[in-house]
Amino acid sequence: MNLKFEYPFTAYFPADVVKENYPRQVFDAAYSFVKPKVLSKPTLIKASDYLAKELGWDRDFLASPSFLDHFSGQSFLDQEASYAMAYGGHQFGHWAGQLGDGRAINLGHIQTSKGTLAFQLKGAGPTPYSRGADGFAVLRSSIREFLCSEAMHFLNIPTTRALSIMATGELVLRDKMYDGNAAYEKGAIVCRVAPDFIRFGHFELFASRNDQKMLKLLADYLLKNHFKHIDLQGSDCYFELWKRIALLNIETVGHWMRVGFVHGVMNTDNISVLGETIDYGPFGFLDAFQMDFTPNTTDAEGKRYAYGKQFDVLYWNILMLANAFGQFDANNLKKYEDELTHLQAIINDTFFTVWAQKLGFETYNPNIQKLIQRLLILLEQGEIDFTLFFIQLEKDLSSRFDFTTIAYSENLEEGFLKDFRLWLEDYETILKLNQISDSKRIAMMQTTNPKFIIRNYMYQIAIEKAEQGDFSEFETLYYILKNPYVITSENEKYITKMPLWAKNKIGCGRLSCSS
Ligand code: AMP
Ligand code: MG
Repeated sequence: MNLKFEYPFTAYFPADVVKENYPRQVFDAAYSFVKPKVLSKPTLIKASDYLAKELGWDRDFLASPSFLDHFSGQSFLDQEASYAMAYGGHQFGHWAGQLGDGRAINLGHIQTSKGTLAFQLKGAGPTPYSRGADGFAVLRSSIREFLCSEAMHFLNIPTTRALSIMATGELVLRDKMYDGNAAYEKGAIVCRVAPDFIRFGHFELFASRNDQKMLKLLADYLLKNHFKHIDLQGSDCYFELWKRIALLNIETVGHWMRVGFVHGVMNTDNISVLGETIDYGPFGFLDAFQMDFTPNTTDAEGKRYAYGKQFDVLYWNILMLANAFGQFDANNLKKYEDELTHLQAIINDTFFTVWAQKLGFETYNPNIQKLIQRLLILLEQGEIDFTLFFIQLEKDLSSRFDFTTIAYSENLEEGFLKDFRLWLEDYETILKLNQISDSKRIAMMQTTNPKFIIRNYMYQIAIEKAEQGDFSEFETLYYILKNPYVITSENEKYITKMPLWAKNKIGCGRLSCSS
């Protein structure tokens, strides 16, 4: 197979005039040409045959030397083609200035059966945007990104995809817990795939420099390539673009809430303008239900990116994007302001719709809303497992409802059990009131609530084995992630609570950003 790379991004935007690869502020440019690091012996760990099939690529190609060469970056060493993009961002609520692809190198776009897609290597070496860091990625975080991107896809959630994971054959120094105990770890490269990797922070960087020309170019590029249905001639095309970006992301965060996914680092540089989940770092799925659960140890104090805050933070990010758009679309400011109020209502609506559907309703009304609010409190009180609860509820509405396998709390108080029984009774009544038959309820719950999610402790087991050269558990997770909505003989044993030993083990419940 002969890969034909195209360069719509570099053809459209001005390039950095400095050619040397050293960390710096890059002005008047959207990207810098940069080559991946020369590797003496990269090896393929895994190619996603799920994705390859969707791209229309044959399986033999995945095992070929050409595949290894391309997606370890080695076939880009003697041409000026691959590039790193400039962007900025707000991190934990503070403007962080220029960030950019510090360890991502874009190989270009390829036309595939899924449309024109961008291919980007994460961990292929330093770029002008690496700041003080090395440009590499370690095996553990690459395994997490590879598996979770593919898992999110099969959960029907918009996400960047993972084509491959390579071992670089080199070691990378990391202070995993930021406690002064740095150690060498194996390096890896994930090839991510998306229609484009443009983030809110792309707009924010140029807005911070009052670079109206570049802001307009960015918006025009998106309109031309990704939002073709928006009328380009219309005076509102930029406002429409911003609104569409906001709506796409609201939909995606709605999905996260549905499956209990906590992104962990929703900085504006980690939010895609295409609404895809991007940048898998210290993410996690809820085990015990807890509104303020965050898997990110860096966020343990502020809990800015906790499960229950994800919509608030998204709204704040959308506001930051509106500020950037306001710089080059100043005539429309009032429209942005009015729309922000409207978006707040859509967010509220999305939250309750998602939760109503988790309970088998099509949509919500004030009665269902109250039912949801009571449930949120009960689930948290009893430390009930988020995923297992809905599996159980789908099966059994009666007073026999059994908490022993789904609660983390050891002694559920009589008061809690009584309140919960009352809740179950009201649930049944409201189902009847809304004429939701059991078959209708179950059908809705089965497409809304996943049965199998990869919990952080499962990644951790797969990672610890992989670090010793045994990829069997990684392979198993990869194999079973494709069927998250049904219980099969293969995934059955993974559909249980997080084990006690994992509760306080690093990497299992919570993770640091170090990757
Ligand atoms: P993240 O928190 O992973 O989204 O990264 C925030 C910023 O830091 C981005 O600009 C990344 O490219 C950069 N970055 C993170 N890790 C590294 C690394 N190991 N080397 C260079 N840049 C990095
Ligand atoms: Mg990032």
